[in-house]
Amino acid sequence: PRRVGVLALQGDVREHLRVLSDLGADVTVVRRPEELADVEGLVIPGGESSVIDKLSRAFGMREPIRAAIADGLAVYGTCAGLILLADRITGGIEGQQTFGGLDVTVRRNAFGGQVDSFETDLDVPVLGPDPVHAVFIRAPLVEQIGEGVESLATLADGRIVAVRQGRLIGTAFHPEVSGEHRFHQLFLDTVAQHR
Ligand code: GLN
Repeated sequence: PRRVGVLALQGDVREHLRVLSDLGADVTVVRRPEELADVEGLVIPGGESSVIDKLSRAFGMREPIRAAIADGLAVYGTCAGLILLADRITGGIEGQQTFGGLDVTVRRNAFGGQVDSFETDLDVPVLGPDPVHAVFIRAPLVEQIGEGVESLATLADGRIVAVRQGRLIGTAFHPEVSGEHRFHQLFLDTVAQHR
């Protein structure tokens, strides 16, 4: 199995480690540039994007992550992870930065606060006919996508909640907390294909 990492600065790292190891991946935590250099794919977890942003700078991880993305690293971001992959965000805190890579505009906390968290079933054609049970927690929304970006899933009203652009995948929801493994499998397949 290929070695993949979960960025472990803040967020639901453990849940991602569990799904990836259930899928047979050789998985490790990534906190330092040397650890990043050792993985063929990276998951950016859900959590608080502004905190992950700040910690990535404090830990000297921002530039290495940006360079790795530019170099073609496969990355899967859930929720805060999607925000961090977006080239453009709205509703960020003062000075908030992202790693970028996905040619999308993402709105933070698009559904309101913690009380506005919700669950729903989504049709995700790229993952097959069975719906994905999606958990949204203070979730972002993809407001705009560039030409090279595929929408992988929308809410019933058409708003985009999952995207892919080359080796980058982002979901506004958290498959890792609902026992859904197919997005992580898609990520591992991407890692395998682009080796
Ligand atoms: N609202 C959070 C943020 O801006 C994301 C929430 C989540 O990852 N569940 O980072």
